[in-house]
Amino acid sequence: MKTLRIQFAILPLILISTVGQIAFGQQSKKPLADQLEDTQQLTRDARTPKIKKEVREENGRQVEYMFIDGIKVHETDPKKQPQPKVVTPQPYDAEAAQAPKDAIILFDGTEATAGNWTATSGKPTKWKLVDGALESVRRAGYIQSKQQFGSCQLHIEFATPKVPQGSGQGRGNSGVFVMGQYEIQVLDSYENSTYPDGQCGALYGRAKPLVNASRKPGEWQTFDITFHRPLFDEKGSVTRRAKFHVYHNGELIHDQHELSGGTGWVGRHSISEYKQHDDKGPIQMQDHGNPVRFRNIWVKELED
Ligand code: MG
Repeated sequence: MKTLRIQFAILPLILISTVGQIAFGQQSKKPLADQLEDTQQLTRDARTPKIKKEVREENGRQVEYMFIDGIKVHETDPKKQPQPKVVTPQPYDAEAAQAPKDAIILFDGTEATAGNWTATSGKPTKWKLVDGALESVRRAGYIQSKQQFGSCQLHIEFATPKVPQGSGQGRGNSGVFVMGQYEIQVLDSYENSTYPDGQCGALYGRAKPLVNASRKPGEWQTFDITFHRPLFDEKGSVTRRAKFHVYHNGELIHDQHELSGGTGWVGRHSISEYKQHDDKGPIQMQDHGNPVRFRNIWVKELED
């Protein structure tokens, strides 16, 4: 963060200097268009998260550690990665949670809409339909929508088990994946601490939520996600990062957040990089061994 702050502090000086040179007709070896391009590049660099990797030897094994803007992935030390502030969310708003007329209903509690979902193999899912909710079944694997989406607005509701079992990542763990790629963590984060970049609402391993707006175990919670997919060039390099704007129980937890890379688990302190994928992918929910339930899932496609 410090490097980023310094860059943001330097940037206005460069801009002033460039504008000054233009205004006062100072001589520069570079044409104006090139100077402006340099300034734009500096702006882009200043916003680019700094990723550092190092390999450490632990018990005779090589373990990769990743740092994003100087903070270790899955950092637990609150001095280095403070826990998000706990807030009391507004009561569940049934009216706001209702699907707009032009939304695609992926699940509304009925058996008919449960048919919109399969296992990742494309075969019927082993998840259960219980009291109008889709419930994760241990070892059944992920569930995914038959229909695929790119940039989209997604509303999804979830409830972690009413009787909490386990702790940290072992309590009420699941996840919502957009494009079958990028995970918004589902976890029972009510009086249950873990690494902030893996608590409920985190973009797993990449960004902690701005606040902890979790409800009590067993209570229905909402995610309202606006997602713009990443773009790649023909070589597979990312040219525009994925962007998330997310509300958890009505509280803003990601503010136009540009994802610095993938969210796939690589190691204890390491997370996957961007890897080129198709323009569309399924919405998925994770089976992490805990019976987490989902309901009222609707989506609207967005322009890129
Ligand atoms: Mg998860």
